[in-house]
Amino acid sequence: MSMSDTSSAIARGHELQVLIDELYEKYLPHTAGEVATYIPELAKADPEAFGVCVVTADGRRFEAGDCDRLFTIQSISKPFTYGMALEEFGPAKVFEHVGVEPSGDTFNSIELQNGSNRPFNPMINSGAITVTALLHARYGHKTFEYLLDRFSVIAGRQLTFDRAVYESERRTGHRNRAIAHLLLNFGLVHAEAEAALDVYFKQCAIALTCRDLAMMAATLSNMGRHPVSGRSAYSITHVKDMLSIMFTCGMYDYSGQWAYRVGVPAKSGVSGGVITVVNRQLGIGTYSPRLDPYGNSCRGTEVCVEMASRLGLHVFDCLNVGSSFLDAIL
Ligand code: GLU
Repeated sequence: MSMSDTSSAIARGHELQVLIDELYEKYLPHTAGEVATYIPELAKADPEAFGVCVVTADGRRFEAGDCDRLFTIQSISKPFTYGMALEEFGPAKVFEHVGVEPSGDTFNSIELQNGSNRPFNPMINSGAITVTALLHARYGHKTFEYLLDRFSVIAGRQLTFDRAVYESERRTGHRNRAIAHLLLNFGLVHAEAEAALDVYFKQCAIALTCRDLAMMAATLSNMGRHPVSGRSAYSITHVKDMLSIMFTCGMYDYSGQWAYRVGVPAKSGVSGGVITVVNRQLGIGTYSPRLDPYGNSCRGTEVCVEMASRLGLHVFDCLNVGSSFLDAIL
């Protein structure tokens, strides 16, 4: 099947579609939060934009709202590059460079782990820049090409990147530049730290829709294989590691509350996207650029909290119907 025709047909009239329509209508009027402006180009996002898409691990798709609107992936790229580094270098070597502990700090924190001086985890900027630098050490000037190809396989269609957002962040990303130099000081990134940082900025500017996010999440929920194209993107071993980090560190300094309230791995980005993975069952992608003080999409969080509770998605939700509800309706 070609890359351009791997987005499965939408399943109208289905019970899950009814729920998604209901949640979309319910949260559409919610206007809490602020669009990110620290990357100037992100401030141009339409604050009203709102999309919700769910793809099952066998490729059925349910969606409502702005599921065709392009935005940049930002931090949602981080678990995916982490998986690529694990695959290239193995967990032991990656672990020498970046830990797996929640930082309890903001995504752009300049703090490194006491003792080792490693970044706490690959979901914060310091850890993600370290991971991209590892890939850059192997792929050199072809690194971004390699990343874009890999992201395209995970999403199931050829993705592009948003040059304006990339240039905007490259011009203003002094804090990330400082982090890259700090990492260089500790020998955690190779000498071409600036070149690796440039790849990181490009990686964050990969353009996609919330339907793509749902497909990427479904690839993870389908043990690393794209549910429609059938192409393998990751081995199950690496998917397990990626989901573990998303579970403990994926939602910035709200990750504990997310694990408590939603109870499944997720990752958000400052442009307003969220991916949520219900292992072996669903991938969820949401888009709404107004963010809460943690940097998570307000509507994205609200939709996922309610969907998790209505469908019993929480991994420890043993008392209710849990995943058997999904088995019954899917
Ligand atoms: N490119 C953004 C940065 O490094 C990504 C941040 C995010 O989405 O959390 O600041």
